Amino acid sequence: MSGAADSVDVVIVGGGIAGCALAVKLAEAGFSVVLLEKSTRFRDHVRGEALLPWGVAEARELGLEQALLAAGGGYAGALVACGDGVSYHEAAQSAVDLSKAVPGVPGALNVGHPDACEALLHSAETAGAQILRGVVDIEIPAGEEGAIRFAVARRKRRLRCRIVVGADGRRSAVRRQTGLRLMSSTPRTYGAGLLLGGLPWPTGENAGGTEGDLHYLAFPRESGVVRTYLFWDAARGNLVSGSSSAQDYLHLLSSQFLPDGCDLGGAAPKGPCAAFPMNDSRCDHINPPGAVLVGDAAGWSDPLIGQGLSIALRDARMVAETLIWNRNWHPDIFRGYCAERAERMRRLHISARLATELRCGFTAEARNRRRKWNEEVQRDVQLSGPLLGNLAGPETVAAEAYDPSVIRRILALGEY
Ligand SMILES: Cc1cc2nc3c(=O)[nH]c(=O)nc-3n(C[C@H](O)[C@H](O)[C@H](O)COP(=O)(O)OP(=O)(O)OC[C@H]3O[C@@H](n4cnc5c(N)ncnc54)[C@H](O)[C@@H]3O)c2cc1C
Repeated sequence: MSGAADSVDVVIVGGGIAGCALAVKLAEAGFSVVLLEKSTRFRDHVRGEALLPWGVAEARELGLEQALLAAGGGYAGALVACGDGVSYHEAAQSAVDLSKAVPGVPGALNVGHPDACEALLHSAETAGAQILRGVVDIEIPAGEEGAIRFAVARRKRRLRCRIVVGADGRRSAVRRQTGLRLMSSTPRTYGAGLLLGGLPWPTGENAGGTEGDLHYLAFPRESGVVRTYLFWDAARGNLVSGSSSAQDYLHLLSSQFLPDGCDLGGAAPKGPCAAFPMNDSRCDHINPPGAVLVGDAAGWSDPLIGQGLSIALRDARMVAETLIWNRNWHPDIFRGYCAERAERMRRLHISARLATELRCGFTAEARNRRRKWNEEVQRDVQLSGPLLGNLAGPETVAAEAYDPSVIRRILALGEY
């Protein structure tokens, strides 16, 4: 990029999955794109590493599936649902077939988050986007539509553009500076993650289950490491904080959750251990004049149901298509995107609340509900609707499945 007063079509703030995917698509379409990323190197911040089947379909639409596979990604075609006294070994006999969720998609794509970001950033650069890293002090001047100031390598810069895209994650500066309000739900659970080596986990098998007072998830990768998460009741506070967090985390894990041949004694942390209160959030408005938000910046879904990467890719595709199809970039062009996203997130928020009750209920009543739900879904597929939508895409499930009456029926299953 040349002088300090350059003018481009699009400035994207944030080079996570959402920002990079959008940069690729827009640069390929011939727009001049500048992507501003705060970090100089992507690190493991314990983020999403399992792209569920509908997100894989989005990655394909965007032409990014191969980049994710080349970044060390691999497919898991099965979900082993164990826990509540059922061992991994027993549950593996009747694992959920993830290849059935979206026609032609082999399953969930597991990939390291920093590797995925690096690969997509590289794709964006190859497509012609200009990438600036180590960017600080983003400022969107009030009343000056189509302008952005920032600093990089200790130099202040100013760019003019047709639109600024806020792809800068949960604490989005673009959202804050354009005066948009974020509303967050009260956390019901805490979730912690740790990448583990030393466990010879079958690479095609994701796993999840609830045992005692913990819910766990595991996503093995081709390279032999396994991304694991643990969830517990938020009332217990953070169980894995401080310098002993990784050791505390390993003590919480139970061998019940492990495939044959895996021994917790051999498990070794391969990254940081971090815990977060789990919630979701929404913005009632995501396209102020001269800007639009994508990914977590626009409001997120509770990570318990693993939707954030798919949401980010769908957002990137829809915003890219909107800009490609419209000559005049008036805020009204985003009406379709905003409406689709609002309904998508409404459904996913219902699904997350349901998943929290079903998977992160640790009382006898909650265990009973899980048992009965597993029996009832064999007879009435509507009861699995929201959770199927997490795999196939929330729009693929009949709207009635998200109706409060259906959710009440599921929750009532726990009553004796
Ligand atoms: C514990 C946990 C587990 C999860 N598990 C899953 C899962 O299994 N599957 C799934 O699909 N999702 C999961 N998610 C959610 C998923 O990680 C996120 O939804 C997704 O990463 C959001 O992508 P994004 O690009 O919108 O934002 P981010 O990943 O937050 O990227 C934002 C980027 O913007 C940059 N940035 C921020 N501020 C600025 C600034 N001022 N200037 C310039 N750059 C800036 C950041 O450095 C970052 O690179 C999980 C989340 C958590 C917390």
